[in-house]
Amino acid sequence: MDTYVVTIIVITVFGSITSIVSYSNSPFKFPYKTIYINITARRQTTITEYIDFYLIENSMNEIDEFISYLTSWKNICEKKIGRSVFKRRRYRQFQDCCDDAHAIKLVFYKEKTRYKQVNYVRYPYKVKEVKKLFNTSYDYLLGRYNKLKEINFQCSLEDYNSNKQRQLMTKELRQKIAERDNFTCKKCGKYMPDGVGLHIDHIIPVSKGGKSVPSNLQVLCSKCNGQKSDKIVKKSESKS
Ligand SMILES: [Zn+2]
Repeated sequence: MDTYVVTIIVITVFGSITSIVSYSNSPFKFPYKTIYINITARRQTTITEYIDFYLIENSMNEIDEFISYLTSWKNICEKKIGRSVFKRRRYRQFQDCCDDAHAIKLVFYKEKTRYKQVNYVRYPYKVKEVKKLFNTSYDYLLGRYNKLKEINFQCSLEDYNSNKQRQLMTKELRQKIAERDNFTCKKCGKYMPDGVGLHIDHIIPVSKGGKSVPSNLQVLCSKCNGQKSDKIVKKSESKS
């Protein structure tokens, strides 16, 4: 056989193998987003509450950035499909690869200090210890974010919807409100720098559905606080 003919055969065979392989292999790789969330200083709680804390502190910035990247990635893919010889096949592969429901991978970790020994000297170094993993969608995170926005990012949705509002009145929250109101009674202006007689009052009482969030809390002195509870008692008496 002529070398020319052999070359042609080799090229044809090789060419068809490559096109079969490239036909069956998907050229698309979904660009998942991983977000690392440090929960070292957090108390033990649910994943959803960890997500709320993340959204309260970081807003949607990183997530929005990823979504605009994902949108442009999809546009590029669609253009490629438009130019491809195997349009239908490529479109199927593209659809199979898209995984919007799990596009965002949240990795919750705690930082741990480890030591390594070099020549009898201990050197500390930090490692990330993964505690929880959660794959989710943009829509889910946006939904939570919008609900948090409605309550002005004052607390997690779990705390907001909790039926144990009184238990949420922590020492830290009391201190925060006392400082915000400058240790001064909101009704009569009495200044109580040492905290004696200082009450943290729920503007809408917990019994009436009031929440333990900064916008519903104020400093009152004993006298004003007493008058307020009298009023509420009288009101409920007159109702009954
Ligand atoms: Zn007062």
